Amino acid sequence: EVCAVVKADGYGHGAVTAATAALAGGARWLAVALVEEGQALRAAGIDADVLLLSEPSVDAIDALLDAHLTPMVYTRDFVAALAGAARSRGITVGAHLKVDTGMGRVGVPAAEWEECLDWFADESVTIDGIATHLARADELDAPTTAEQHARFESFLDRAADFGIRPRWVHAANTAAALCHPAVHYDLVRVGIGIYGLSPSADVDAAAHGLRPALRVVSHITYAKRVTAGTPASYGHRWSAPADGWLATVPIGYADGVPRALTNRATAMLGGVRRPIVGTVCMDQLLVWCGDAAVTVGEPVVLLGDGVRVEDWAVAADTITYEIVTQLTARLPRVEVTS
Ligand SMILES: *Cc1c(COP(=O)(O)O)cnc(C)c1O
Repeated sequence: EVCAVVKADGYGHGAVTAATAALAGGARWLAVALVEEGQALRAAGIDADVLLLSEPSVDAIDALLDAHLTPMVYTRDFVAALAGAARSRGITVGAHLKVDTGMGRVGVPAAEWEECLDWFADESVTIDGIATHLARADELDAPTTAEQHARFESFLDRAADFGIRPRWVHAANTAAALCHPAVHYDLVRVGIGIYGLSPSADVDAAAHGLRPALRVVSHITYAKRVTAGTPASYGHRWSAPADGWLATVPIGYADGVPRALTNRATAMLGGVRRPIVGTVCMDQLLVWCGDAAVTVGEPVVLLGDGVRVEDWAVAADTITYEIVTQLTARLPRVEVTS
């Protein structure tokens, strides 16, 4: 089954839009990072199972229970607090136990693997799932994925010895869902992949038949002809290579176009690839159109039509995840169906 990861406002795409589309496409679970993100899905009327990927503060347990979120748990204190809240409500709560097999971030460390199954002794919190997270699934020849898999198997064996065989065993993120079938288990937690984007240079979404879900489209607000050598934008980091047309587009780093794209990216105008030139500003950027006369109002495709989030990630020395999660609230999201 698929767990569609819609944290960080659906990786910048809109969490409710992404969740609704994923469920319509057959996803069995949703996942979020924060209780507030789960509450927003509930407020939108989404009643699917929602996994909370990290333990929140114990102060948020009531909100978590009110929103019927399924927490990933990995500390004795949190499990005890959750059990106390469950008992006081006269309910049992299902949780997924997260073990650290080598990610080194959150999860029960190996030193606590003996004792952690005892945390659930009073049965007001049930272990409905066991999960882990992979550190290097997006590197095709990293040996640690197989090592983490083996450690996870040993934990699953230990749990089985205690009679614990939960319905949901899961380990895979997008890269593992695409490239490491041995760790698919019952559920794959797919984030970047449901948006059609590559987790890394090693794992190319397009080669796996995925298409980007998002386009970023703006338009020309101002255009002028300049003479060869005319400098433009902050710091004069670019000058016109010839006489020609320079267009202004009302989008900038405050919308999520990285300033690092300065002189390093292209946009599509009328189906033609044109360079983004001069320093990217807070609210505007410039596009060099050469001899092609351009008109105010003409659409400018910043992402889409062959300009890929992966290209921005390379140009800005980051990953696709950071590009899309940095698209800010100032950009209106328009839902389209295709
Ligand atoms: C964000 C996250 C995912 C999704 O990762 P992708 O690489 O986007 O598929 C899966 N599991 C956990 C625990 C996460 O935090």
